[in-house]
Amino acid sequence: MELKEVCRLLKRPFSKQRLLTTCFHSPPHVFFAGRIASFDSDVYEGRWNSVLHASADLLELANILVPAWSKDAYLLHQDPGRANRHDDEDANDSRGRGVQIKRVDNAIRSPWFWCCTLVSDFLGEILIHLTCWVESCPCHGAKLQCFGSSRLAGNERKRILHGGRRCPLFSMRAAEASAGASASVGVECATEGWTHEDLGTSMGKAG
Ligand SMILES: [Zn+2]
Repeated sequence: MELKEVCRLLKRPFSKQRLLTTCFHSPPHVFFAGRIASFDSDVYEGRWNSVLHASADLLELANILVPAWSKDAYLLHQDPGRANRHDDEDANDSRGRGVQIKRVDNAIRSPWFWCCTLVSDFLGEILIHLTCWVESCPCHGAKLQCFGSSRLAGNERKRILHGGRRCPLFSMRAAEASAGASASVGVECATEGWTHEDLGTSMGKAG
């Protein structure tokens, strides 16, 4: 999975430092080095939630990473311990498992990769909408707006559910769900979100 490899590049101390040294050492990219340094997401395929978090975190770096990334510059920086090695993998890992740079390079330069990441994030946002709908109540009418970002939607969900007084009818959605309302909420979110300005803008920037 390309998402996993790109996250490995950004998370592992050795590859992160190497990336900062080679691709984020001069203006204007150096101004965003802190954002790269603070990236801390990893992907565990067995947990869908880790994919969603990683997608959201990575999308926030898309406009920073894409223009700064250079496979040639990255590989030019040789580890003194393996000075003659010039291959497509950073094997500098205690378990001998490094970052597959060729896959990382293909992913970062691929609009398809960023679109897939954006779709993952969007699916996560739909799940958050459904969660928020289930946990809220029918009487207070709070409706989560589409943001084109699962992170923003997640923050808004917390504000709606925990930002004011709790209603006794919170999470009492069984009757509506049995009538099919939850499905319509999901469809409505998907329809609104797919045409949302932020979603289109994000896709354009990432591509
Ligand atoms: Zn209520």
